[in-house]
Amino acid sequence: MATVLLTGGAGFIGSHTCLVLLEAGHRVVVVDDFSNGSPEALRRVSELAGLEGWRQLAPDRWVAGDGQPALLTLLKGDVRSPRDLDRAFEDREAMGDGGIDAVLHFAGLKAVGESMGQPLRYWDVNVVGAVRLLEAMGRHGCQTLVFSSSATLYGITDRVPIPETAPLQPINPYGYTKAAVERMLADVAASTAGWRIALLRYFNPVGAHPSGRIGEDPNGVPNNLFPFLCQVAAGRRQRLEVFGGDWPTADGTGVRDYLHVMDLAEGHGRALETLQAAPPQLLTLNLGSGRGHSVLELVRSFEATNGLTLPYAVVERRPGDSAISVADPREAERHMGWRTRRSLADICRDGWAWQSANPEGYRGSDRQPGRSLIQVQPVS
Ligand code: UDP
Repeated sequence: MATVLLTGGAGFIGSHTCLVLLEAGHRVVVVDDFSNGSPEALRRVSELAGLEGWRQLAPDRWVAGDGQPALLTLLKGDVRSPRDLDRAFEDREAMGDGGIDAVLHFAGLKAVGESMGQPLRYWDVNVVGAVRLLEAMGRHGCQTLVFSSSATLYGITDRVPIPETAPLQPINPYGYTKAAVERMLADVAASTAGWRIALLRYFNPVGAHPSGRIGEDPNGVPNNLFPFLCQVAAGRRQRLEVFGGDWPTADGTGVRDYLHVMDLAEGHGRALETLQAAPPQLLTLNLGSGRGHSVLELVRSFEATNGLTLPYAVVERRPGDSAISVADPREAERHMGWRTRRSLADICRDGWAWQSANPEGYRGSDRQPGRSLIQVQPVS
């Protein structure tokens, strides 16, 4: 059992990973500023993990799980703040349970379009945030880190599938910040002995926990295909716009490597165990399924799995998009015995279970906990 700090642990991928770690018997401390996450997500995680006694102890502190220290602690805090980070580390040290053993760093901004309009904000949160985190880990003697990187680093490439050795050629500020942090972590690992670091390059994480209790809850209009499609299905958006029908793919629409968020969460659990069991090392791993699906294949699978019809229209290509992006996931299997286990149909079923039960995301939960606000009639 380890005590693990999750930055950004109240967000989409962080909350699912938190559940996987609690179920594996780890203690978890989450620091999140709630800019794109919610305490409600972790209240539900604690419920799914069977932890008793979710309670708010201060305006910025929640705990769950009987005993001292709690099995799950949530602190409101900013990764750029040394004070907030020290507080998270000291929380455990004060309990005398040996402190934080490892950090999973999810906190960051991730919208490509937004990063082009607000590059400084992206460099500040993503890069300065990582610098502050590494400094805090140094102060508290923690040298095990799993970093949320992205396949966006590979830029626009014709290579299918993409191995980790492919050149890094980001094409927007978001991608550059991920590349900068990867570089910084490699420099840190080379400068000081003892670091255990995994850089996990995610392809397209989608879906939700099968219970429908936790899932993706984007702020405003979703940029990404899957949450947008779910909101169309729920009646929140009129129709899906398919960005380009003339790509050099089988049906002319873009092809991506969609992976179920529970597979991704389990990948983090596996990365943590792998780092802890082996000598210090820096691992760089793609996390994807190795299979590509087009936009229209995803639409059809969602319709067939859930008995719905999704209105859509094919429109112009989106600037900066590529035709195909599919992982070569063999290194992840070789190094940590991980591969995706869930299908596109599982993704569509679980994503819809979440969206249909929570059409307004976590925001609707105060009004009608666990109940759908919009009734969608399945089409037979
Ligand atoms: N896409 C689309 N309509 C949307 C959002 C995305 O047709 O409203 C397409 C996009 O062109 C790409 C695929 O869906 O081919 C996945 O896009 P997403 O933004 O989800 O991920 P990324 O571009 O980062 O792979």
